[in-house]
Amino acid sequence: MQEKDCLFCRIVRGEIPSCKVYEDEYVYAFLDIAPSFPGHCLVVPKNHCRNILDMDPKEAEHIFGAVQKIAPAVVKAAGAEGFNLIQNNEEAAGQTVFHAHFHIIPRKKGDGMGLWTPGAYASAEEMQETAAKIGSEMR
Ligand code: AMP
Ligand code: ZN
Repeated sequence: MQEKDCLFCRIVRGEIPSCKVYEDEYVYAFLDIAPSFPGHCLVVPKNHCRNILDMDPKEAEHIFGAVQKIAPAVVKAAGAEGFNLIQNNEEAAGQTVFHAHFHIIPRKKGDGMGLWTPGAYASAEEMQETAAKIGSEMR
């Protein structure tokens, strides 16, 4: 199902132009309009979902297959040496378009793009407690 006013639903429907790089029954991929580097793509499910937690598990599986197809092509076409697969969920994590999407960003050594700042736990105990807390949230 799609949403009438969602930007990426509108791109999938062709109501807003995009530079398509791949399409199949469930997935649409196109160039990001403000790329970190040329070739930066967005891979989106055709069905509207807000983020990956909202995505149908079958479609989520399928989209990973599509990423495995698209990413090597992006790397080759960009003359890159690797890529980042980035996926932002919710505003706090930098999501600006609330239709789930994966960024494929081609990377070269020394290209200067930073992803996150490494931090540290106060102690080994704090690290253990954090892992245990996450585990208990899944039970
Ligand atoms: P995010 O911050 O993860 O929600 O990423 C949204 C991405 O969508 C950004 O990188 C934007 O540059 C990109 N974007 C927004 N509008 C368009 C558009 N019309 N065509 C292509 N990419 C877009
Ligand atoms: Zn949508």
